[in-house]
Amino acid sequence: MQIMQGIWLCIHIFGVLVSFFLLASILRQKDSAYKNRLIMTVSCCLVALVSRSLFIMADADMQELLALGKAEYMGKCFANFLALMFILSYYKIRWPGRLMAALFGINLVFFGIIMTCDYHRLYYTSYEIAATSNGNILILGKAPLYYFYMLFCLVEMVLYLYVCINPAYHRSENGTRMIQRLLIAAGVLPFLMLLLYLSGVTGGFDTTPLGIFCSVVCLFMAVNRYGLFDLVQNAKEAVIESMDEGIIVSDNQMKFLYANPAACELFPDMKLGEGMVSESEIQAIYEQTGTVLELNDKSYEIRNAEIRDEMQVKGYMLSVIDVTDVMAQAKLMRELAEKAENASRAKSAFLANMSHEIRTPMNAILGMTEIALRGTLDDQQRDAIEQIKSASTTLLTIINDILDFSKMESGKMEIVEADYDVKSLVQDVYHIFSGKVEEKNLRLEIEIDPTMPRGLHGDEIRLKQVLINLVNNAVKFTEQGSIRLSVGYERAKETEGVVLKAAVKDTGIGIRKEDLERIFNSFEQSDTFRNRKKEGSGLGLAISRQLILLMGGDIHVESEYQEGSTFRFEVPQRVVDESPCGALELSEKQPRSQQTARYEDFRAPNARVLVVDDNLVNRKVAVGLMRPFAMQVDTAKSGKEAIEMVKEKEYHLIFMDHMMPDMDGVETTHIIRQLDGEYYRTVPIIALTANAINGVREMFLEEGMNDFIPKPINIKELSEKILEWLPFELLENQ
Ligand code: ADP
Repeated sequence: MQIMQGIWLCIHIFGVLVSFFLLASILRQKDSAYKNRLIMTVSCCLVALVSRSLFIMADADMQELLALGKAEYMGKCFANFLALMFILSYYKIRWPGRLMAALFGINLVFFGIIMTCDYHRLYYTSYEIAATSNGNILILGKAPLYYFYMLFCLVEMVLYLYVCINPAYHRSENGTRMIQRLLIAAGVLPFLMLLLYLSGVTGGFDTTPLGIFCSVVCLFMAVNRYGLFDLVQNAKEAVIESMDEGIIVSDNQMKFLYANPAACELFPDMKLGEGMVSESEIQAIYEQTGTVLELNDKSYEIRNAEIRDEMQVKGYMLSVIDVTDVMAQAKLMRELAEKAENASRAKSAFLANMSHEIRTPMNAILGMTEIALRGTLDDQQRDAIEQIKSASTTLLTIINDILDFSKMESGKMEIVEADYDVKSLVQDVYHIFSGKVEEKNLRLEIEIDPTMPRGLHGDEIRLKQVLINLVNNAVKFTEQGSIRLSVGYERAKETEGVVLKAAVKDTGIGIRKEDLERIFNSFEQSDTFRNRKKEGSGLGLAISRQLILLMGGDIHVESEYQEGSTFRFEVPQRVVDESPCGALELSEKQPRSQQTARYEDFRAPNARVLVVDDNLVNRKVAVGLMRPFAMQVDTAKSGKEAIEMVKEKEYHLIFMDHMMPDMDGVETTHIIRQLDGEYYRTVPIIALTANAINGVREMFLEEGMNDFIPKPINIKELSEKILEWLPFELLENQ
């Protein structure tokens, strides 16, 4: 044996031994995505090296050398492809399946061609044995396919290097510099070896198995030396093993594969790492997915994650999560929410009830006060009764606020829209406050944009309520200076209507910055101590804001402490009459309602009126309030009695209480309307109700009544309704 031949042999045997060692140590590693690919690459290397070693030692026998050459190709043909597969999986890169299949296919075809090369001349055209200093070599006549395959092998190696070098492919966590260099070396070395062999420098001695060997060593070092096998995998396992949540893994046939310690504790039948658990047990746990499993006085939620490889479900991972605390918390929250809801409902119901109950006696107080004021009184008595009237009116405002608030709380606040005259609305507000402002020596300035369309469509009553509340607050919190109410508009962008803009500006005590947002909350009164002497429920602004929001608008405040405040709101309104409203006429001191109805200006001695009310005081109030009109007023204390009386006598007008025991006002009206005769269908019936909520008027009209008056009865409203509904010929001027 020549020296060179001996050296080559030693190198190859060394390679074989090292490859064996590498293979053994890779096999001992825990599973990872690229373990199998590395095993295959090393195996190919081993096959090529062993074949080459035997080739070096072989006699100069053509058949033997040819057979060993073919065996060597068994390893060489697929080594490059496997190295490429490895690097792709290492960087977690997915190349198109077709490309990979094509690469593999070409290798396979050439493997077939080479294995059968002695039967055709496609790959080698001639074979000759030559003894050289490197030992026996085969001098082969190369066909074009041979060059093509060599080129193909070079391309595979270039592809490998491209993956290694292309920064777009590299995920930072896999990329320490050293590993990167080793991986590049694993591609460059076989490439060089192949080039050396092809260039003839090696004297026809095939150095590609050694190239593959160098590549394998570099790959092994990159993967093993730098702990890529262990680190990630071990970390993952450590996390799973130490988790409080139970993890159970099964294959797609529900065969038990693995349970972590937490799962073993929960389900003692499952032994860590043992495949002893029956399918049905896993199935039973699996079926609890999405529900809550009660186990050892605790609640667990089972979550199921499919383990997929490409599109195929390979198994399931069931997580058993302790949700005892979450469940307990959720239960507590539900209970608290329920309690709060019940309490809130009870409170709202109570407030609504109480307001109704309070309005009934308030009717008596206000009504009787009104009646008393009409009598002859000395100054002291008149003053005392005026005080009662004023206090009762304030009390009524508060009760109205509480009623509104309870409606707001229960979401029953409604907006009832109708056509209205915007100028009259502003004038009314002015007249309500003109006297009060004078008493406090303040100036009330009112302006309205004269180009504003006169007729709008919206909830006039609620708009007035908001304006009254804002002006009332301004008057309440201003000791000197002026209050200015300005009303203007802007054309709405989306709709055909306008945006009504109102501002109430005062020169009063102002509001501290930190209170500006708070004052719109229920029951909040800024600077409570300073306001202690000011009456109010602290609900006005909360209700106003809610109303404005319900109307689709917004309300804001700007204020300078000690300087004054400006409340502004804007609400969209439809336009029903485009004619400009013109300048305000504030010379008339009386509000609109009083302009049309001078309540003590008429008498109707021939009018027959029936008042139906179960409450004696209310009946007395109604009769007393009607006394100036000198009408013939009868009373009935129940629906039944009213029906009898209506049958006996033809009335011109009936005032009907709503809430009565046995038969309420609505039912009584139904029965009257159904009595035989035209008169019963047309006699005006006006509802009297302490339940003065919005929408109630519509309800009464639907039920067959003609109109309604809220309690406490307002004498002006009463006279207006009488004027409206009594036949004209019965009225006499005083
Ligand atoms: P209240 O019935 O107490 O007036 P509101 O909700 O109407 O309730 O107002 C809440 C608080 O906002 C008032 O108590 C007052 O402290 C403050 N506030 C409202 N309007 C003004 C104003 N024009 N000037 C100063 N403070 C005001």
